[in-house]
Amino acid sequence: MKNIYGCRLEDLEEFFLSISSRKFHALQLFSWLYDKRITSFSEITDMKKDDLEKLEQSFSLERLKIVDVQEDKDVLKYLFELFDGEHIEAVLMKHDYGNSICISSQVGCNMGCRFCESGRRKKVRNLEAYEMVLQLLMIEAMLGERISHVVVMGIGEPFDNYDELIRFLEIINHPKGLAIGARHITVSTCGIVPKILEFSDFPLQINLAISLHAPNNELRNQLMPINKAYPLEQLIPAVQTYVEKTNRRVTFEYILLKDFNDSVSCAEELSHLLKNINCYVNLIPYNETNNFEFKRTNTVQIMRFYDILKKNRMNVTIRKEFGGKISAACGQLRSKKEEL
Ligand code: SAH
Repeated sequence: MKNIYGCRLEDLEEFFLSISSRKFHALQLFSWLYDKRITSFSEITDMKKDDLEKLEQSFSLERLKIVDVQEDKDVLKYLFELFDGEHIEAVLMKHDYGNSICISSQVGCNMGCRFCESGRRKKVRNLEAYEMVLQLLMIEAMLGERISHVVVMGIGEPFDNYDELIRFLEIINHPKGLAIGARHITVSTCGIVPKILEFSDFPLQINLAISLHAPNNELRNQLMPINKAYPLEQLIPAVQTYVEKTNRRVTFEYILLKDFNDSVSCAEELSHLLKNINCYVNLIPYNETNNFEFKRTNTVQIMRFYDILKKNRMNVTIRKEFGGKISAACGQLRSKKEEL
């Protein structure tokens, strides 16, 4: 049986037509699911008994299991259990501009970035769209507040799960679905070039972030195996194409790693690399973990790096640090359970 939270409006329209009913019931159903937030089909009052029965036979409304919630100031980390017993995490951040949620897209990750905690467990499987939708829906319900921003930056490489990602984005963006504005949604990729190009034809105005982390191939090859498949001379033009086609500014994420990619010459090289692209650079203070050799660049050096980019007229910001205490920081989304 299919989980209903993985259905787009069009899928439900097709369903109602397939049972010789009327298409408009799909919109009603969306409203029951996402406005009224029903937990059982029996709560639906405006549908024929026959249709309801068929709905019940074809779809489940089953939700994920919450196994743990940890809180640290303005951050909450949720551990979910999936129907096959796997675990995933999502993080809620309370900003002054609203609540933002960081969603996982896979169980484990195959990208193998050297600094990243989530990749220590290889990919077990892709998440299905409903498993991504439910992270959002369930956290909103527990919080009792609206979530305004979504970032797909949890465990997994979203572009390695492209079709389900797109389905998820369409469901949460739909005005009668969760109605998250496309401009409030960000997808982050380590740089899978063919998917960046494909995404440039996707009609929704969703933000794209690229995990760059190095200004040249020599350093990037040492950090991110994906750079060997798609080196900078492919990645940068692909991003340029994306910007031209969509007219949207991209974000480059750059983790500052002490004595590795934080020198003055790296800052100059980065400015040069990105000088013709309409972009933001988001400098990320590294969240140190026990398992890796990298250290966090200190604040003075972070400011030095920032100043050089500014001087070179880049749009640059420094990411606010969140959730260190509960291992909810970037790349640390692995449950303690799995570390045993
Ligand atoms: N696979 C996608 C999305 C998940 S990672 C991607 O690579 O973009 C989300 C962001 O967190 C990436 O920019 C990633 O490089 C960064 N990140 C991973 N580990 C980190 C750490 N320990 N400290 C700071 N940022 C980290």
